[in-house]
Amino acid sequence: MDDSGPEPALPLRALRCRRCGRAAVPVQDFGCESCGAHDLDLEEVELSGRGVVLALTTVHRHPAPAVEPPFTLGSVRLDEGPVVRALLHGPELRAGAPVVVDLAADGRPAFAVRHAEKETDA
Ligand SMILES: [Zn+2]
Repeated sequence: MDDSGPEPALPLRALRCRRCGRAAVPVQDFGCESCGAHDLDLEEVELSGRGVVLALTTVHRHPAPAVEPPFTLGSVRLDEGPVVRALLHGPELRAGAPVVVDLAADGRPAFAVRHAEKETDA
């Protein structure tokens, strides 16, 4: 068994540059963010859906009535390089935690902590 944890709940796609290797999320058609390559130098790829939390915050009050706090947002550095801002959910969220694409309780895409190691309850 490897230490990559559960499979991602959803596919996560990026545009990868064949010239410099840079992956961009979301997929866009403006060209490579790093070297400017375009058209045939770019390919759409599926990412691993895995990354590491860089920073996070929990929102306890929100001005929009349709948005129900609390919820946690974070910056996640994907294994392929791009940094995305996303909803985080589940236990053990902290900076440095390894995460994988998952679905929150309401069905929205989110990242959850990967559990490769066994938990102990004494
Ligand atoms: Zn490039």
